[in-house]
Amino acid sequence: MNLGTDPSAEVRFQGTPVSPGIAIGPVHVSVRGMSAPETHSITPEEVHSEKERFQRALNLTRQQIQEVRDRIGKISGESEGKIFDAHLLFLEDNTLLRRVEKELENRLQNVDSVFYAIIQNYLEAMRRVQDPYLRERTADIEDVSLRVLNCLERREIKDTAPDHQHVLVAFDLTPSDTALMDPDQVLGFCTEMGSTNSHTAILARSLGIPAIVGLERALIEVKMKQTCIIDGYRGELILNPTPETLKKYKSLRRQKDKAYQSLDSVRDLNTQTSDGHEIVLSANIEFIHELKGLKTSGAQGIGLYRTEFFLLEDEEMPDETRQTQVYSEFIEACSGHQAIIRTLDSGGDKLSAEPFSEPEPNPFLGWRGIRVSLSRPDLFKTQLRAILKVSARGKTGVMFPMISGISELRAAKAILEECKLELDRAKVPFDPDIEVGMMIEVPSAAILADVLAPEVDFFSIGTNDLTQYTVAVDRVNHRVADLFRSTNPAVIRLIKNTIKAGQDHGIWTGICGEIASDIRLSPLLVGLGTSELSVGVHQIPIIKSAIRSLNFADCENLAEECLKMHKSGDILAATRNMAKTAYPDLFFET
Ligand code: PEP
Ligand code: MG
Repeated sequence: MNLGTDPSAEVRFQGTPVSPGIAIGPVHVSVRGMSAPETHSITPEEVHSEKERFQRALNLTRQQIQEVRDRIGKISGESEGKIFDAHLLFLEDNTLLRRVEKELENRLQNVDSVFYAIIQNYLEAMRRVQDPYLRERTADIEDVSLRVLNCLERREIKDTAPDHQHVLVAFDLTPSDTALMDPDQVLGFCTEMGSTNSHTAILARSLGIPAIVGLERALIEVKMKQTCIIDGYRGELILNPTPETLKKYKSLRRQKDKAYQSLDSVRDLNTQTSDGHEIVLSANIEFIHELKGLKTSGAQGIGLYRTEFFLLEDEEMPDETRQTQVYSEFIEACSGHQAIIRTLDSGGDKLSAEPFSEPEPNPFLGWRGIRVSLSRPDLFKTQLRAILKVSARGKTGVMFPMISGISELRAAKAILEECKLELDRAKVPFDPDIEVGMMIEVPSAAILADVLAPEVDFFSIGTNDLTQYTVAVDRVNHRVADLFRSTNPAVIRLIKNTIKAGQDHGIWTGICGEIASDIRLSPLLVGLGTSELSVGVHQIPIIKSAIRSLNFADCENLAEECLKMHKSGDILAATRNMAKTAYPDLFFET
């Protein structure tokens, strides 16, 4: 869309849907500390006074920066103060000034809003350049721009969430931004960056907030308080919806609410296919506040508790007492079912266990998961002791992330044994037969599943990472999101290989990656022989209902056919076909 088109016309942007649902509400734009100003039209006669207002704001900003520079110079020395020279230079940039003046004439909108749009454009370009020096300069530009906006509006602009319900639009959100969202206020969100398997997306699903990522250029076009619709099924952001579009989406939202209410009836039923094949359906949990939902969801325990989310609250993992306290709450909430606690999986796109002096060049291939725990035995042992302690209070499982081979697994188990000995000596009760499992999320582990199976009590397949590492596609990079397909034949064969190795050695295998909550894939995953599916709390009723509509023998035949296929698209089409025939009412597509 070009600057200057009818600002009240309906506009649609296509992105990647990451969390289903429909949200309708006013836009709140947030860009890392810089909120968008309100937009209003001006007359051609007002252009001149707006240009003058802009000049005054630039002068005031210059003055402020000079004052800060002098103050810092006095306290920390001349060289520190010089950092602000770059800010001043940015304000002297004539190209920027000319662009603002030209767009002011074209758009006929208040200068705050014009300046903001231009800066967003500029920042977007800067964030995408390869040169790390230039990329880092975005923070400087944001800083100066925020000052200019403050001076224009003569008020403090802070990126505080509004106290009314809204749809959040942002360039990017970190998992912590998402985790801190209030689901009662944030009706939905969309970002320019991100992909389906980023932790931000996973959190959106766990909070039950409709979300879209990869919406290129959306930020430049949206305006504060503008009405919009998020279609989290198709991945569409609709700005200024027409009355017909609004009516259609309101009615779809009602339909969806009704369909979800009807799922209430399956909550207390077993998760079994129509021909009696049982699957354990458990929940993926990140936060303690999800436990309330866990109890009412109909889940059979916790299949994956991502303990690294502790790092959102604090920069380091809590001490043993606090961990024991939190894990106890999880055990209690499972009411007799098992709670599988995964040891710290920091790194990758998740928070790091320690600050790095220099960022890692390839975080997903770096100091992540079990590698961190093995190189920090104190941290690891604190966590293992806490897990062991709660095992005395209820059925507990411990699971290691990112295991790539037998040596890592044995090293992790040896440390677990050390902890058991310590507790034994101190006469602290624990379950000596606590189930010990490992994630299968690195292709080497999936290939070596027959070697690893005799060493553990269960496997849990993390298809988010397994897909990422098998097809060499970064799970959070929206540019390659199209290539991230968990139905890739190689991934499906690795899943089958793992399940078969588990069966041959008498251990169970579950799946806790995001594909477990995709109703299109349930027939395939059931047919491949998974014993357990672990999904977000909000997805439990729909997956249970899907499985109850399937026939196991048909699913097995489907899986056999899929294993012969060569293309992800063919596998997806085959399983989707069976799913759509078995439970058409669960498909909610707009
Ligand atoms: C996975 O990789 O599929 C998984 C469940 O772990 P996480 O998403 O936490 O990396
Ligand atoms: Mg993983």
